[in-house]
Amino acid sequence: MAKIMDGKATAAAVTADVKAETASFIERTGVQPGLAVVIVGEHPASMVYVANKEKKAVECGFQSFRHNLPADVDEKDLLDLVAQLNEDTSVHGILVQLPLPPQISETAVIQAIAREKDVDGFHFENVGRIAVGQSDDAFVPCTPAGCMKLIENARGKDLSGLDAVVVGRSNIVGKPMASLLLAANATVTIAHSRTNDLPGLCRTADILVAAVGRPEMIKGNWVKEGATVIDVGINRVDAPERGQGKTKLVGDVDFTAAQAFATHITPVPGGVGPMTIAMLMANTLKSAKNFAGSK
Ligand code: NDP
Repeated sequence: MAKIMDGKATAAAVTADVKAETASFIERTGVQPGLAVVIVGEHPASMVYVANKEKKAVECGFQSFRHNLPADVDEKDLLDLVAQLNEDTSVHGILVQLPLPPQISETAVIQAIAREKDVDGFHFENVGRIAVGQSDDAFVPCTPAGCMKLIENARGKDLSGLDAVVVGRSNIVGKPMASLLLAANATVTIAHSRTNDLPGLCRTADILVAAVGRPEMIKGNWVKEGATVIDVGINRVDAPERGQGKTKLVGDVDFTAAQAFATHITPVPGGVGPMTIAMLMANTLKSAKNFAGSK
């Protein structure tokens, strides 16, 4: 029976470290780290994510700046706000919550964020540094960074000799995840919707990362005996067993079935989700330290 990797507890430990380091950083430099969060429109899931990020920022001792823009805002107005935040010395991290409405180019907005304040790690320069194995000099995207921390806890920092399969090739999860696993010496395969024999490929994985967005797509018997399974997926599904009209969150992996094969597995919720926010806090503190020229 797999050991459940407790993302909530690991995230709480990361946050506690960030909070303690922030207090000593403020004492040393007089600078309070600042995180600016920009939200366009009122996408319900985005509103929840943003509120959680703000709450965690305050808990860490940061200044939190929220900018709400209407759903019909012009791209130019959003770019002007980003330019203003780039110049603002009290802001060390800028996060524009995705998705953005169709009249705005996500690429244009993300690339307009100063790379030194790109705590989400989506700017091409950060992406490029991670791709060439220079993640120490970059902001690593928060979800893959959180997954790596959980993998490190389960398997150690050096993944030499281990086969990793990442299911999903998005720019925010799958691709950077694969780069980080490669940098840790795993032998990495990226799978996606055009991959042949996905079950067979998954069965080769000592480390299986699912970032697909399809509820419980990965079945128990796709999981290799002894594998570490990281489930990034967050899917809301009907849960009639909880009462009429009720829903629940499930991952991309059939958790109960996979538990019989895996050695370590993340739950949904309570696995990768909390790690993502914790790593955002760590990136914001890193940025404030970079600006202050401090360790
Ligand atoms: P995307 O939709 O951007 O990417 C999904 C990937 O899955 C694509 O590469 C797609 O392939 C692949 N895919 C789709 N269907 C299949 C299939 N049948 N077989 C194999 N591969 C398939 O999603 P994201 O990467 O943004 O997110 C993935 C999941 O992770 C979502 O549930 C999202 O909510 C969750 N998430 C969770 C976070 C957290 O903090 N826990 C943070 C970010 C995301 P193709 O490229 O060929 O279309």
